Amino acid sequence: VPLLEVRSMVKEYQNGFRAVDDVSFVIRPGECLGLIGESGSGKSTISRLVSRLVDPEGGEILFNGTPISTIPAEAFYRASQRRQIQFVFQDAAGSLNPRYTAYRSIVDPLLRMGPVPDGEALRALVVRTACSVGLSEEMLERYPHQMSGGQCARVGIARAIIVSPDLLILDEPTAALDVLVQAEVLALLERLRRERGMSYLFVSHDLHVVRMLCDRAIILRRGRIVEAGRCDDIFRAP
Ligand code: ADP
Ligand code: ADP
Repeated sequence: VPLLEVRSMVKEYQNGFRAVDDVSFVIRPGECLGLIGESGSGKSTISRLVSRLVDPEGGEILFNGTPISTIPAEAFYRASQRRQIQFVFQDAAGSLNPRYTAYRSIVDPLLRMGPVPDGEALRALVVRTACSVGLSEEMLERYPHQMSGGQCARVGIARAIIVSPDLLILDEPTAALDVLVQAEVLALLERLRRERGMSYLFVSHDLHVVRMLCDRAIILRRGRIVEAGRCDDIFRAP
């Protein structure tokens, strides 16, 4: 059974615009699927559909064989799958709560979704998770404005992995970072996937990044899949 299966998914916005048109793909356990396309091609809409932030008008989304597209977005927030699918935002520095320390940002999803280990074990888990993304314990007391873009990106990743998800949706996670930091964060994501056996849906407009990190990729144009396959095949020079 694939971890995630999307069948003939359709999303139309209120104005009738069809942003996602008959899109199907699977992600197998441990696999990294790249989702490539120009700006406006429907990448963010697909990642929001899979995270159940928006409702599709047609098609099906199956997670571990269970349909999740029919769970209303509100109920999905409390569903068990909510914890298994986590999202890493594009602009980490901008999406962190400015009034939260790194510690509070990282612990927050765990407090919401549980199970919450008690006492000392909770702090130990936060510190261990921070450490696994390359953040020192001192860093945990800082606010977003006291951290670099790369450090904020690491906090965003730590928040996502602390609940041990099976699937990470990464929406241009390094787009706001400068090139050297970008390479560090990509190396981190690569290592985390190996160590934790997570699957990724990796959204990017950058072919080089997708080629480095992903096993397979789909290319979107105007909401439709125009190409799909193994990265080795898709990116081979003609
Ligand atoms: P990408 O992430 O590839 O840039 P998006 O998924 O953000 O693409 O957008 C796909 C298309 O849907 C774009 O043409 C965009 O203008 C349109 N779109 C996105 N959000 C809305 C909305 N809330 N209402 C109407 N159209 C939208
Ligand atoms: P509260 O009632 O605790 O304020 P909110 O629903 O407002 O709860 O969310 C808590 C905060 O977590 C939000 O202000 C938001 O900025 C922040 N947040 C949500 N998602 C993320 C994320 N992926 N990374 C970092 N911060 C996030």
